[in-house]
Amino acid sequence: MSLFRRTSRRYLVVLAVAAVIATAFVQRHLVVHAQPSEPSQLTVYSPQTTYSVPVLEKNGQPYVGLVELLEPLGTVDARPDGKKYKLRYTPPGGKPREAQFTEGKDKGKLAGNGYKLPGNFILQSGRGYIPLAVVPDVMLRLATLEVEYHPASRRLFAGNPPERFTLELRKDTTSRLFISFPAAVNPSISTEAGHVHFTFRREPVIPAGADSVKFSDPLITGATFSEQAGVAELDVLGTAPLMANFADGGKTIIVAAAPAPPPPVAQAPEPSAQAPSNVPVPAPPPQKPSTPRFLVLIDPAHGGTDVGAAITPSLAEKDIVLALARRVQRELANRGIAASLLRNSDVALSLDQRAVAVNAARPALYVALHAANTGRGVHVFTSLLPAANLSRQDFLPWDTAQSAFIDLSGSVAGSVAAELEARKMPYTTLVAPLRPLNNVAAPAIAIEIAPATDKVEEIASASYEEQVAQSIAAGIAAIRGKLPEVRP
Ligand SMILES: [Zn+2]
Repeated sequence: MSLFRRTSRRYLVVLAVAAVIATAFVQRHLVVHAQPSEPSQLTVYSPQTTYSVPVLEKNGQPYVGLVELLEPLGTVDARPDGKKYKLRYTPPGGKPREAQFTEGKDKGKLAGNGYKLPGNFILQSGRGYIPLAVVPDVMLRLATLEVEYHPASRRLFAGNPPERFTLELRKDTTSRLFISFPAAVNPSISTEAGHVHFTFRREPVIPAGADSVKFSDPLITGATFSEQAGVAELDVLGTAPLMANFADGGKTIIVAAAPAPPPPVAQAPEPSAQAPSNVPVPAPPPQKPSTPRFLVLIDPAHGGTDVGAAITPSLAEKDIVLALARRVQRELANRGIAASLLRNSDVALSLDQRAVAVNAARPALYVALHAANTGRGVHVFTSLLPAANLSRQDFLPWDTAQSAFIDLSGSVAGSVAAELEARKMPYTTLVAPLRPLNNVAAPAIAIEIAPATDKVEEIASASYEEQVAQSIAAGIAAIRGKLPEVRP
């Protein structure tokens, strides 16, 4: 089917709204990646923003810059004058307060009162630094913000107390763990045998109860919270594969057993041999220790009774994309990159089955392939996460799985686009709220091919297929170093 037309007709408003959200996501993730949380940073959570302040070792103890600490919160006017340093801080809509210190001295003034630092004030290149230990005190006196400071993880909650989440194990027909937050959260999620692991980089979350909880339950046996290096982590432990779903607009995460068995992931296809369809697929082998590997999972869309678009009366989308998928696989192999096909025969798979199969296969990259007889050239899509309350019926509740990978997905799309450009192929890069991309917990793109000229049959020609497949494979090869290998 035509992703582009479907998108333009039905989701124009969604697109407009969601574009803003997607941009915000990308920016957030770029910020996170540009400043990896390390012990050398203080993470400040304020009502307006979350930010990191570099922590520098000076005179044998950790220091932070006053301007770096206060500027994200209000207006800062800093005036170094010889060895003296005067700083005026004005909170939004509030009255200014001043700090005065002298290079190499521990005595100064803070908001009109004498103040002694636990180490000498440092003035370097016009920048003033105070010992990290007094940051909570300075926030309170100068920025008049209530603070809660967790020294071990260097997380500082300013203005508002940290957001406490609760854990509730519900046992209906199956056990489910409900993790409820006061505000929507967007952690990165990883799963491995019997674990679901959440990493909160931006959210000021801490547990309402104990850091470590044990459940007397045959499936979900415990949860452990930890804070380190400016991030919070929650690990949920189970006796079987677990998965996480979002509910309540992102304020609740539900951990439950992962659906089993997953549908097939075709291996090592023989391009010349037509694999039989509708053959029962053996269950995946039991998990065993494995080394990280780089696997591209190619998903020829549609299949079976779902023929996709009728490109011509005798040419169905499902067949075109399967042929293209096999060619992309060969082109990747030529470049030393392993690839599997989600279907290597004419079988029907639902979008849910596809998403579950992709996430079970744990690829380094997921590429969905479509074809259309409308539009022109190649459309390269990345996911646009839907706004929380829009078109719920069109999207899965686990619709934010892709969010942690949006920047990497965008990089892959850009790399493929560059290769199309190099081959003078007409192309468009687009973002759209696409399934199953939204549900894929890996870098993911969708490629829809349409004829480059008025001749519709061209779409199935060997030369066009080859040009597209080479562009995709070369684009992936060029960006491979940026994509993490994955432990299967
Ligand atoms: Zn399609």
